[in-house]
Amino acid sequence: MTKPIALVSMPTLRDDVPSFQLALLKPTLERAGYTVVPHSLFLEFSRHIGPSLNRALAEVHMSLAGEWIWTRCAFGDVRPSSEYLSRFHHDLVSITEPAQETPEALVRLRDQACPAFIERVVAEHDWSQYAFVGFTVVFQQMIASLALAKALKARWPTLPIVFGGATFEDDIAAEVMARCPWVDVVHCGDADQTVPELARRVSNRLPLDGLPGAMFRGPDGAVRFNGRAPNLEQMDLTPTPDFDEFVALHDALSLGTGASIQLPIETARGCWYGMKNHCTFCGLNRQGMAFRSKSPAQVVDMLKVLARRYGTRHFNAIDNILAPEYAEHLFGVLAEAKTDLQLHYEIRPTVSHEQLKAMRRGGLVSVQPGVESLSTHVLTLMKKFTTGMKNVELLKWTAYYEISNAYNLLYGFPGETADDYVEQARVIPQLLHFQPPYGMVKARPDRGSPMYEAPTEQKMGSLVPTPVYQHLYPPDFDLSRISYYFEDTRTNVPPPEAYEECLSLVDEWTARWKDSHRPTLTSFKTPGSLSIFDARRGKTVATRFDERAAELYEFCADARRTVDVVERFGEDRTWLDATLAEMLERQLLLELDGRYLALALPVNPNH
Ligand code: SF4
Repeated sequence: MTKPIALVSMPTLRDDVPSFQLALLKPTLERAGYTVVPHSLFLEFSRHIGPSLNRALAEVHMSLAGEWIWTRCAFGDVRPSSEYLSRFHHDLVSITEPAQETPEALVRLRDQACPAFIERVVAEHDWSQYAFVGFTVVFQQMIASLALAKALKARWPTLPIVFGGATFEDDIAAEVMARCPWVDVVHCGDADQTVPELARRVSNRLPLDGLPGAMFRGPDGAVRFNGRAPNLEQMDLTPTPDFDEFVALHDALSLGTGASIQLPIETARGCWYGMKNHCTFCGLNRQGMAFRSKSPAQVVDMLKVLARRYGTRHFNAIDNILAPEYAEHLFGVLAEAKTDLQLHYEIRPTVSHEQLKAMRRGGLVSVQPGVESLSTHVLTLMKKFTTGMKNVELLKWTAYYEISNAYNLLYGFPGETADDYVEQARVIPQLLHFQPPYGMVKARPDRGSPMYEAPTEQKMGSLVPTPVYQHLYPPDFDLSRISYYFEDTRTNVPPPEAYEECLSLVDEWTARWKDSHRPTLTSFKTPGSLSIFDARRGKTVATRFDERAAELYEFCADARRTVDVVERFGEDRTWLDATLAEMLERQLLLELDGRYLALALPVNPNH
């Protein structure tokens, strides 16, 4: 009889979200006749060190503390902890403070809590019962996975260890195979079609020659690679994910109930926009850029099953971008059914006001829209090919429809000018009543992005792995092959002072949203008049526009080109110029990219 297969998801991950990889691989292998036992060990670790510290470490910061704490278990002493603590002091304080800890707590984790956790995990389960142990690796799971794999191999030398997951593209996979002899196989690419055959061969100790996706050692010890597994073209073939183990363990560890969990779903892979224009900073997708999506009908069926099985209505699509047809066909069906599902999606910032309205009716409550900048010039340089004004419109309508909007502003694209930031510093103070960005950060040449792949063309100069990797891996690792984050010597960017005003305005914006009294700018309409209440800067300033001026303001609810405004209201040009000037002066109307946009949010939610 074939032995069961263990699938492991290691720390350091948030404890309120299941591993989607475990949830998908389990039914994929079960369909092929295998018994699969998932182990969400990241949950057990959260319990081991306390949820607040775990949550703090699960956020990815440039100190990669969620990886560093496992270095002693995986490799022994890489470098003295004092060097790491002093080099990343500021970052580590910001990670540990919310958990009411100090950076020194991380040294205790590295030296005591993490080794104790590995020992416990090895001792508590009978790993020898499994045909092999598969580790799925994303984000900050690499070093913890290497640590447990090493301990398992030391205890059961013949137990095969298989790694896979989105982390593994060729270089990273090859480096792990070269430096970590306790890893037997690394799978690269989509696992859906190849993993059942991989399981058959590994379980039966058969050679892996010719199997796409498999990187392994031949009888001579040399690493062999059969090339990346092909992309799964038909997403409808993927099974409904199985979160049973996560939900049961989450409950058992008293980390919350099923209903409080936001379940990840996958309805598409790749990026239809990136296939045409790969955003220069984007390291997602890599060789999986080709866009594929599930049929809307199958997504509805999947939501039905998951909502029933787990008693939740909160779903987070892990897709990189919303499939264009979902706006109408998925959200239309959900709106028609009047369900109370709540969905999160990543979207292109170019979705229209009407599309947002329709999707909100269908349950879209949260988006990650890839805003990235409020300057059309900077957006063009990063190949976003949208406009600053389009992005502002998106901020407006997501605010109006109460759709939570998670976005960043990026800077530092070669070719941008100081004026691009003077312009954004003019715009930002007018937007305080819209949701602020998480922050404004320098664009990075992440592995797989055009900035990384073509640094000369992108004017990024030379790339070196960020220094944190020197603290994560022993000296025999080739850091340029294992790293995901890099530093560069980009040229053709303005001096640092050019960004200062925008950076501090964004900080201020974020701080204002943490106030108990958030900034507001609202309007209400009565027959023939529009009253506007501006409380963006403390005290409320009221303004009323009557008749033609009220019509003009309403006409600009969606951004209007100057030419259209003049055509509609230009019969009295002197009046028009004076009225526009007053609206602009009061910052109730924004002029950007040759268009006008009314900034106030109507109090009536049904427009
Ligand atoms: S940033 Fe978003 S839109 Fe651009 S290529 Fe990446 S996934 Fe696609």
